[in-house]
Amino acid sequence: MDKILIANRGEIALRIIEAARELGLSTVAVYSEVDKNQLHVELADEAYCIGPREAEESYLNLPAIIGAADISNADAIHPGYGFMSENPHFAEVCEGHGINFIGPSSRTLELAGNKIKSKEIVRGAGVPVLPGSQETVDDKDELKKVAGEFRYPLILKAAYGGGGRGMRIVRDEEELMEGFTSSSKEAEVSFGEGAMYLERYLSQPKHVEVQVIADEHGNYGHVGERECSTQRRHQKIIEEAPAPGISDETRKRLREDAIKIARAFGYTSLGTVEFLVDEDESYYFIELNARIQVEHPVSEEITGVNLVKDQLKIAEGEELVRDRYEDFRGHAIECRINAEDPENDFLPSSGEIKIHQFPGGNGVRLDTWVYNGIRVSPYYDSLLAKLIVRGETRYDTITKTISALRRFEIGGVRTNRSLHLDLLRQKEFRTGDYSITFLDQFLEERGVA
Ligand code: ADP
Repeated sequence: MDKILIANRGEIALRIIEAARELGLSTVAVYSEVDKNQLHVELADEAYCIGPREAEESYLNLPAIIGAADISNADAIHPGYGFMSENPHFAEVCEGHGINFIGPSSRTLELAGNKIKSKEIVRGAGVPVLPGSQETVDDKDELKKVAGEFRYPLILKAAYGGGGRGMRIVRDEEELMEGFTSSSKEAEVSFGEGAMYLERYLSQPKHVEVQVIADEHGNYGHVGERECSTQRRHQKIIEEAPAPGISDETRKRLREDAIKIARAFGYTSLGTVEFLVDEDESYYFIELNARIQVEHPVSEEITGVNLVKDQLKIAEGEELVRDRYEDFRGHAIECRINAEDPENDFLPSSGEIKIHQFPGGNGVRLDTWVYNGIRVSPYYDSLLAKLIVRGETRYDTITKTISALRRFEIGGVRTNRSLHLDLLRQKEFRTGDYSITFLDQFLEERGVA
């Protein structure tokens, strides 16, 4: 591997460019017309415009991306997260072109992308999954029949979904019938497949996930777990590691089971096994995210490992040294700072960035793509920056995160910074005893839900 094309934009593109550079690899950026002033274009060794601002015609434009790889002679593609990262067809085309796709094989991507098939594999590996439909459901009659086998409340999910889209809690048959039509339509538009499935709904679980890493020589390791229950509309906004509020016994079992699952998928590269942990600490697999995740830095901060660099080394065929990943120290919190207005139904905000002050100092890390004068456009996700703070104890980390957030001062766009400050001061957050209902309840009490 000499030259890597990064099929992405924003902070993750910068993160990959840096890691590649540390390993002495050349980098190729691709960009849409509206992104020509982005830092990833400037920082990569080469850059190619791959289409207009619409993601479908640029960052999701498979022939244009492969064309840029051909022209630049890139021998590897890192897809980042989102966009093409979990698209088995894309991985397959790379494989066919002799391009090293930095991620698992197209076959593994296909299995992980099919939620029902994934649950079957996990059940086979002896790890609990939530009871639910064993096949995808395409029409209402079938759905009614399947739902009859379970007790409400249930959750309706897109079989090939992601990002919480198409997901809906249903409390009775009427809600199920109503929800099916709109969820299935949303799934069809977002994922090209309207197929749905049903699962038992847990009312107050925690979302805990385990970072796994696997090489091409059959070695599997984990980099501990992350707590990601602070979510709005099933989208995470604060993550932390290690996960508070679970026993060490549960922590150990989750980590072991994540490895079991990775093995069952024949997984290679970086991946995340997501679980829901119920109030009695029984837990269930929900999905395998077959890519680097937004929240990976909190695991890096408590282990000192550079996950993207290791992911690149694994793609080059290196063997991983398992013990290196299990040396945990201190605590880390990540706040996703988005260009959106919490006072106005979280409406995405665009404009020209004016930086007044950015935080820094010991244990404070800011992964961001913004600079003074750059325009935030409405065409892509609203993530501006990830503020990642490391401390000796959890309490120390929360205090430090609050100070760092206070110093994150930008103008030109609305951000969710004040929401983060409010959340970190809440009693539930401080005790570490919070579930996926934490943020919704907070917003409801404030009358902004
Ligand atoms: P997606 O792939 O769309 O992100 P996931 O299956 O990963 O969907 O779930 C995303 C979030 O939705 C979880 O973190 C959790 O908050 C909620 N969720 C998913 N399944 C359930 C369930 N069975 N019961 C309660 N909440 C759930």
